Amino acid sequence: MHEMSIAHSLVGIIKQEMDKHGVTKLLRVKVKYGRLSAIVPEALETAFEAMTMDTELQGASLETEEVPLVAKCRECHKEFSPEGDLMIMTCPHCSAEFGHEIISGKELYIDELEAE
Ligand SMILES: [Zn+2]
Repeated sequence: MHEMSIAHSLVGIIKQEMDKHGVTKLLRVKVKYGRLSAIVPEALETAFEAMTMDTELQGASLETEEVPLVAKCRECHKEFSPEGDLMIMTCPHCSAEFGHEIISGKELYIDELEAE
């Protein structure tokens, strides 16, 4: 399961960060993910909960936020944020439909970490 391995690496990063700052109790972590990262937020939250159960991170809440997709048009080189069906992304400036470059939407990172 995709989310399980992501949750696993998140927990690793979180523990490293907490060690670095000398804190032991994780309160909240916020993760941002792109539409193209193929994350199902509910699945990630469930995986995170399962992964932290009976560990020092138990009880921490995981929040997720989707990062908007940004594409750069192949024809007019303007940036736009495609909506809906990702197979065909129509440029609102010149109506080109294919071959756009994806600027953002694939990322997955920890945006905020609250611990004490
Ligand atoms: Zn265009």
